[in-house]
Amino acid sequence: MNDAQKIYLSPPHMGEQEQLLVMDAFASNWIAPIGPHVDSFERELADYVGARGAVALCSGTSAIHLGLRLLEVGKGDIVFCSSLTFIASANPIVYQGAEPVFIDSEPDSWNMSPSALQQAFIDASCLGRMPKAVIVVHLYGQNADMDAIKPICDHYGVPIVEDAAESLGASYKGAMSGTIGKLGIYSFSGNKIITTSSGGMLVSDDEVLLKKAKFLATQAREPARHYQHNELGYNYRMSNLLAAVGRGQLGVLNDRIESRRAIFERYREGLSAFPGVSFMPEMSYGRSNRWLTVMLLDSRLTETTPNQLIDALSEQNIESRPLWKPLHLQPLYEGVRYYPHSPEESVSERLFHSGICLPSGSNLSVEDMNRVIRCMSGCMKKEVVKNFR
Ligand SMILES: *Cc1c(COP(=O)(O)O)cnc(C)c1O
Repeated sequence: MNDAQKIYLSPPHMGEQEQLLVMDAFASNWIAPIGPHVDSFERELADYVGARGAVALCSGTSAIHLGLRLLEVGKGDIVFCSSLTFIASANPIVYQGAEPVFIDSEPDSWNMSPSALQQAFIDASCLGRMPKAVIVVHLYGQNADMDAIKPICDHYGVPIVEDAAESLGASYKGAMSGTIGKLGIYSFSGNKIITTSSGGMLVSDDEVLLKKAKFLATQAREPARHYQHNELGYNYRMSNLLAAVGRGQLGVLNDRIESRRAIFERYREGLSAFPGVSFMPEMSYGRSNRWLTVMLLDSRLTETTPNQLIDALSEQNIESRPLWKPLHLQPLYEGVRYYPHSPEESVSERLFHSGICLPSGSNLSVEDMNRVIRCMSGCMKKEVVKNFR
């Protein structure tokens, strides 16, 4: 192992306000899953993304779970969900006793394929089993093509939950990622673009649903003097301490986006010239937050594999990762129905086998980035030289 300092994939990056705000929470003794910072964080985040309201929760996963519950997803129901994503996008479907159906990516944005979605709806309507909801994931900070996806869902009258855990601050045709569907969710887990160590947020323009979300997230406690419960709820609210951190982080979100975009550009400049190397495209319809820089290696043009690069980086004490393993390939979801982009092409599988996520933390120094680029260049040069021997 190398004794150079470890470079992480996407570590937390605190600003100057976070600590002061937490101290304020201490001083006021609001060390509870309610309090003034929770209310302010909800207001400020809703204003930032342009949603009518927001509910602060303990994780992105709990936000998705609550979202499905609000849409009355229950036992025996079907929910469509992107396949190329973190497992947390789909697990809440099963928490509700429902059944996921996985939808492939399209090759341009890497997000939900409208043609695969259309096919899934056609089959569902033939079978007479329509989905109760569609979970659309905005991968690695880029919004899915909602103008292609939403009309299909609207046609069948099925609401969309946007999993914008990775895309806070990204935009789509002037709207903010997470505000186009019926409900949107964000995550403030430790590796996300801003973090509260653990946390999440549910946003919507539907005030009735938001009110219900707060109710269900606090054990569905009825407004009575004693503890009265008529339905099943959860303990899903965010703590006032963490909301204080979140407010500070929200204040620097735009800076974080600019840093991550600059990191992406530097990697692209440093590595694009190698044969077979390409980077995640940015669609002209919006602006990505470039949460993670993702690079692809085309096996027809280079002998270097993502695994070789990950190993070489790891030897230099640098963390990198493959892309999310598509959920239809996970043993947990073996046998679950899956709709590829076309009968000939499963885009998510190709991306999974050819991609690598590079260290993208907004606090990554230029020297550290150069270290990553040097290590990868060295590895790919060796392969180029080998090819010409
Ligand atoms: C991180 C993430 C989640 C889950 O968020 P947590 O806050 O870790 O529960 C859900 N979906 C996607 C796409 C994510 O990247």
